[in-house]
Amino acid sequence: MDCRIRGGRLDKVKTSLPFKLRQDSIVIIKGLPVLQCQNCNEYLMEDLVMEKVDNILDNTGKTAELEILDYAV
Ligand SMILES: [Zn+2]
Repeated sequence: MDCRIRGGRLDKVKTSLPFKLRQDSIVIIKGLPVLQCQNCNEYLMEDLVMEKVDNILDNTGKTAELEILDYAV
């Protein structure tokens, strides 16, 4: 799989990314498997990963302003 932006090679890496739910609520997901471009350092998420992130976000962030979660739970 190649980068959609500049055609660079993508490496599978694990990282932590913040997701903003509302104006004052942020969820950080740790151990997220993403594809990182070697050229532009852009991250891409595979569809399956996106879906799981959506599920995680649906079930969290209701009360806390900042939550840190593990992807692999
Ligand atoms: Zn790229």
